[in-house]
Amino acid sequence: MSVKQSIPFELTPENKCSFCPGTKCCNYITQQIDAPRSIDDFDHLLWQLAHANIQAYKDEDGWFLVVMTRCNYLQKEGNCGIYETRPQVCRDYSNDYCEFDAPAEEGFEFYFQTYTELDNYCRKRFKNWDKRFKT
Ligand code: SF4
Ligand code: SF4
Repeated sequence: MSVKQSIPFELTPENKCSFCPGTKCCNYITQQIDAPRSIDDFDHLLWQLAHANIQAYKDEDGWFLVVMTRCNYLQKEGNCGIYETRPQVCRDYSNDYCEFDAPAEEGFEFYFQTYTELDNYCRKRFKNWDKRFKT
């Protein structure tokens, strides 16, 4: 049963976030990156994904690095501890149709959550992937 099905009354924009398990959108940041094209580009991205809590995805807006990290101002109850002065990006994020309704990855063309996933993709994309090292 989904979270939404178990809620006994109507969700509204005002109460929706209080039912969101873990307050999903306050637990990561994204940063757009240049689209990787060459072997060197993908090798660099692979280095980034070798680090804890780093992911990458591509959607209709391009390539993004994801850092899975909880906002320091997210309160235990799921509230924002700096609501009145929260950054603009937080203000711009609408809960009309958000990750509570559908996982963000549904709109991704590529989604690499681990080093191994990206390494496997690169091996298929580049025939000489395993011979890429210069030294
Ligand atoms: S905007 Fe959506 S994803 Fe973010 S806390 Fe509210 S319901 Fe959850
Ligand atoms: S500042 Fe507030 S709204 Fe923005 S990510 Fe942190 S807890 Fe969420």
